[in-house]
Amino acid sequence: QAETFSNGSPRKTLVILGSGWGSISLLKNLDTTLYNVVIVSPRNYFLFTPLLPSTPVGTIELKSIVEPVRSIARRAPGEVTYYEAEAQDIDPVKKIVQIKSVSKDEGGLTKELKYDYLVVGVGAQPTTFGIPGVYENASFLKEIPDAQEIRVKVMNNIEKATTLSPEDPERMRLLNFVVVGGGPTGVEFAAELQDYIDQDLAKWMPEISKELKVTLVEALPNILNMFDKSLIEYAQDLFKKEKIDLKLNTMVKNVTGTTITAKTGDATEDIPYGVLVWATGNAPRDVTKGLMGKMEQQNSRRGLLINDKLELLGAEDSVWAIGDCTFYPGLFPTAQVAHQEGEYLARVLKKQYKIDQHNWTLVQNSNAAETAKVQSRIEKLNDQIQPFKYNHQGALAYIGSEKAIADVAIGESKYRLKGSWTFLFWKSAYLSMCLSFRNRILVALDWWKVSFFGRDSSV
Ligand code: FAD
Ligand code: NAD
Repeated sequence: QAETFSNGSPRKTLVILGSGWGSISLLKNLDTTLYNVVIVSPRNYFLFTPLLPSTPVGTIELKSIVEPVRSIARRAPGEVTYYEAEAQDIDPVKKIVQIKSVSKDEGGLTKELKYDYLVVGVGAQPTTFGIPGVYENASFLKEIPDAQEIRVKVMNNIEKATTLSPEDPERMRLLNFVVVGGGPTGVEFAAELQDYIDQDLAKWMPEISKELKVTLVEALPNILNMFDKSLIEYAQDLFKKEKIDLKLNTMVKNVTGTTITAKTGDATEDIPYGVLVWATGNAPRDVTKGLMGKMEQQNSRRGLLINDKLELLGAEDSVWAIGDCTFYPGLFPTAQVAHQEGEYLARVLKKQYKIDQHNWTLVQNSNAAETAKVQSRIEKLNDQIQPFKYNHQGALAYIGSEKAIADVAIGESKYRLKGSWTFLFWKSAYLSMCLSFRNRILVALDWWKVSFFGRDSSV
């Protein structure tokens, strides 16, 4: 796109960091003809995270829940530049982002990007609370490579266990799959794993399937704490029926290559495991911590502090931050929040463009009457930028055996749903949330395939 608009005003550069829920929602809603839009993300696709827990066991194929950044960018009305790179450093004073290419062929080239406006949407990384041994031994469930790693570990352990005698304690260890964290990620994955054991392995490897054990460890007295109490009880009862070993009030303190050490009250227990999946929530990424460290106003360790217009405290005139990399009371790290923030920011940036155009005429114009008129237009536009208002539509979770729970909010009314019909509702809600028609079809086909042929157990 030309560096200037037809009236001679400069086209400002908008750099967007990340290709997740927040940034892609912004890109899809933005009028990209108004800015030089540059997207920087080490991941060249958008990932539909709500269905990620279904992928390690093969209920959903990984390719069905990704959408390339370039295909999204191509559909935008104006030109969009994409760098497959990660932001390493942000200088909010000089307005420069330092990026490093992730392409191995280029040996990780670094480059400086100058911006007029910056949107930070880099998400978060899994937290371990500094518990020793987690990074070295556990798998997380955040990105595609994590899901692939878990799948390989599960399948390999099952095959390895068949070579050992049933009396061998090593066989029992290999077949104990432990999930730590009873938030929705841990619960949905434990449920998918148990489904795979009951619905598929029971057919192909009946003996092994009886020995396999799924354990879910949660530090608090309940799992799924964001849901209504009745739904929590329903989910916990179902887990008992499904024979998922639920260890509540149990905090993991240490992890080795074969065992986790957990505390329940005063008692300490060693739990041998074959596969360990760690899902205890989010922590800020290094680039986020680096930015926080540079600014006096950024004094929270939970994420970037923003105001009610999603502007970064300390750089309100040029930086916005959205999604999981931020901390703002009442806004939780969910796809729903990040998605709505992206939509909101697209509207703000449209107004900002108009404000910048008026500012340009102000600089060009020396006529006092005209100046006053333009200034009043700018004021009006600024007033039109209202604070971000989150519209919570509810929470959904799959809990296994083709059952789901839902806390649905419609206006002021709240509905609590559970069971098999809710599973159908869960499926249709996620289908409708898929970013593209292609994803929708692929996900629906995956569900259909599994219901006819079962899950594939090859690695
Ligand atoms: P992300 O979607 O994580 O995107 C961050 C982006 O930044 C990625 O593209 C990443 O590659 C990129 N990035 C990372 N580092 C850099 C860097 N240095 N420079 C540039 N780019 C960078 N929420 C719900 O509401 N409903 C659900 O059902 C649900 N299910 C989930 C299931 C799982 C397994 C997980 C892990 C999360 C789930 N969530 C769900 C939460 C939801 O995925 C997050 O809240 C959401 O992804 C946050 O969006 P985001 O854009 O902030 O971050
Ligand atoms: P979470 O923060 O929701 O839950 C983590 C759980 O781990 C907590 O219950 C915590 O008590 C427990 N925990 C922490 N340390 C522990 C320890 N040492 N031992 C045992 N338990 C420990 O994390 P999540 O499930 O990864 O979710 C992250 C975000 O993504 C949340 O905002 C969540 O709402 C969102 N999400 C939503 C959905 C959905 O809506 N279906 C699905 C996945 C994730």
